Amino acid sequence: MEQPTSTLEEAAMKRLLERDVTLEEIAELVFDLQAPYIENITMDRCLENVKQVLRKREVQNAVLTGIELDILAEEGKLSSPLQEIITNDEGLFGIDEVLALAIVNVYGSIGLTNFGYLDKLKPKVINRLDSGKDSSEVNTFLDDIVGAIAAAAASRIAHSEPKLDSNY
Ligand code: MG
Repeated sequence: MEQPTSTLEEAAMKRLLERDVTLEEIAELVFDLQAPYIENITMDRCLENVKQVLRKREVQNAVLTGIELDILAEEGKLSSPLQEIITNDEGLFGIDEVLALAIVNVYGSIGLTNFGYLDKLKPKVINRLDSGKDSSEVNTFLDDIVGAIAAAAASRIAHSEPKLDSNY
């Protein structure tokens, strides 16, 4: 049965779409993470798990906060030096990853491993967001948020497969 969507959840989903990220793209990352471990994993199952992750208040808050900071940086509305740090996506900033951990932590340590993996490899949508750096787009927080949602959804699936215990 479909549970009703909260206002915060709607706001977070709307923000992701406004920033050109679809839930299907996030589900693709989940699929690639879990395909080696789970036979017959489907895109539908991945998408459903992405949606379940987005139902969590911590996740909604992180999505809204991170995207807001990206947009404010794009509009030049932050104070120096934060304005320059976020616009240039400076490697030593680190708060974008810390904010994303609020998402990852919801599903425990498997999420952390997957998050690190996605952050290093930057597959698919994460790569697209990361390479937007050259334009006027700022996705300093968004690339980590997307990776974190995918990582959390992947751990959610892993936790629902008790047989996998020995593989992790
Ligand atoms: Mg980042």
